[in-house]
Amino acid sequence: MSKIIDGKTVAAKVLDECSQEIETLKNRGITPGLAVVLVGDDPASKVYVGSKVRKCAELGLHSRKIELPADASQEEVLAVVEELNEDAAIHGILVQSPPPPHIDEEAIVRAIDPAKDVDGFHPENVAKLALEDASGFVPCTPAGCMRLLKEAGVETSGAQAVVIGRSMIVGKPMALLLMSKEGNATVTVAHSRTKDLAEVSRRADIIVAAIGRPEFVTADMVKDGATVIDVGINRVEDASAKRGYRLVGDVAYDEVAPKCAAITPVPGGVGPMTIAMLIANTVKAARQSVS
Ligand code: NDP
Repeated sequence: MSKIIDGKTVAAKVLDECSQEIETLKNRGITPGLAVVLVGDDPASKVYVGSKVRKCAELGLHSRKIELPADASQEEVLAVVEELNEDAAIHGILVQSPPPPHIDEEAIVRAIDPAKDVDGFHPENVAKLALEDASGFVPCTPAGCMRLLKEAGVETSGAQAVVIGRSMIVGKPMALLLMSKEGNATVTVAHSRTKDLAEVSRRADIIVAAIGRPEFVTADMVKDGATVIDVGINRVEDASAKRGYRLVGDVAYDEVAPKCAAITPVPGGVGPMTIAMLIANTVKAARQSVS
């Protein structure tokens, strides 16, 4: 039987640690503040933004939600970012992805003060991750995956790790973390051009699946006793579900789980960690703003 890595429990632990630090900061007169900018009305983005703001309120953080219409110009979005960069009550800024297609997302990310870039997407923070400079902000989802591995007692040092996906928000930073001096894994990064992916992934002691394709990783791609971290969140139609769809990961859970030493479920695995690490990054930004 595989061990199910419970993201909700680990996320609660991270948030508990945050609460303690928030208390300490508040005693020094600092309330960590997060600003979330939403451009347009993408339904999934609205849900994500809503849950981030709610979590801030639960933990006693200051938060601002700035909603701009779908036809907001690049200049308007940049003006909001500039204003937030100057706002001393705001320590973390994120612009919810994806913005409408006419917005140059990379230019927006570059405009965010790196000291407030709690998503960790600004080039300065990407460089700090590569340089293993702990003052930078690590993207929330891969940071959450690392914490899950640690809490589950999975030994990354010396392990063969295969990351499937090479995006800037998950795959690439995940590979950097696993190969860092903290992770010490031997890392292979696979993507859509990888030849014989099943053969590559079968070598892995640890698989991180960040592909965006429902149930892509099947049992034949996983060796017995591997640990599988499923980052994917995919909506698949399901007439029997209340909302008409259900969420599945990038891993065919039912057939893969019996082979694994440990596996994250979807939902309830990586998902809760992403928001917890966002709060942790915001608290860190507040701490660093006064140190
Ligand atoms: P992207 O679409 O940016 O990247 C997907 C990656 O998967 C690409 O590198 C792509 O390769 C690779 N890929 C696509 N098809 C294949 C294939 N057939 N074989 C091998 N590799 C393939 O996605 P993200 O990284 O943003 O997200 C990945 C998943 O994680 C999604 O389901 C997303 O919803 C989820 N997610 C979950 C989060 C959470 O909080 N749990 C947070 C962020 C994302 P190539 O580069 O060659 O195109």
